[in-house]
Amino acid sequence: MGIDPDLVAAVSLDHRRLAGHSCDAGDVTFQLSLAHVLLDGGYDGVATLAEVLPAGDHGLGTVDRLDGELAVVDGEPWRVDHTGRAELMSPDTLTPFAVLTTMNDPTTRHVAGLDLEGISATVDSLVGARSGVIAIRLEGTFTKVVLRSVKAQNPPYRPFAEVVATDEVRWEHERFEGVFVGFCFPDLQTPDIIGGLHLHGLDDARSTGGHNYALTVEHAELSVETSHEIALTLPDRSMIELLELPAELRSVQRELLRAGALDTVGLAQRLGTSIDETTERVEWLADRGFLTADDQDRWQITMRSQSMRMSERLEGLLDELIDGHND
Ligand SMILES: [Zn+2]
Repeated sequence: MGIDPDLVAAVSLDHRRLAGHSCDAGDVTFQLSLAHVLLDGGYDGVATLAEVLPAGDHGLGTVDRLDGELAVVDGEPWRVDHTGRAELMSPDTLTPFAVLTTMNDPTTRHVAGLDLEGISATVDSLVGARSGVIAIRLEGTFTKVVLRSVKAQNPPYRPFAEVVATDEVRWEHERFEGVFVGFCFPDLQTPDIIGGLHLHGLDDARSTGGHNYALTVEHAELSVETSHEIALTLPDRSMIELLELPAELRSVQRELLRAGALDTVGLAQRLGTSIDETTERVEWLADRGFLTADDQDRWQITMRSQSMRMSERLEGLLDELIDGHND
């Protein structure tokens, strides 16, 4: 179990224990990256499926450039693109965001005639209290199923809410035979995770599926299992420290994530701040290895991942910056 130790040059696991529970080694849900990084426009893949799938055989996420909805069913990574077509993805597919676990000893119940609210209530009754991350699998025959996917995005990336408003495609299935996999996260009042019930579907024919908005169960088996620990796997050491940064410094990172590399003037325009103020923020971040300048004096976020396409020169520069910073 666990993430490939070679996932990135500087991988780090932040074990965020939920209150009031002891946990064993198998009792973990893994999340690649942070929800707010994705939702702010962090759509570039930061790890391959081969690197993240060892973390579990059950889960969901998306792929590089937000090019569809990912459902991991029995260890198989299926992507549903914006035309509604399901496709088994190759191990070298990049992903910017994924949540994975393994259901070792789930509690199961046969359910019929329930909508999502009914499913939610049944999940509650099965696990007792929503004290952790609940992995959910729902397999059977459904009616009134509403699914969606999104088109691949190109930089400069827009926030997720804007993408959904313009580039979301929805389908309704009067009858759907298949499986829904996903999670119910507790509402931790943090932007790092996506709270509430979140399911991605895949039909039995492995032809279609997507992010689920609505369904009614005709007959299905509901399986649930609670993890009491979330392991946030961050592809970049600077991201961890970034969480501790003041909001005005995080806004610099956010704009660069959305827009790609920007020079100081371009960055100041996007931030709505003066050149002096922008220079001060950028230098603070660059001094600490969070940002680097390219050969055209454009600032970019420091990412250290074997999945990133980086020049040797930049790699060397980052090594120097970060090693120097640690000394
Ligand atoms: Zn989704």
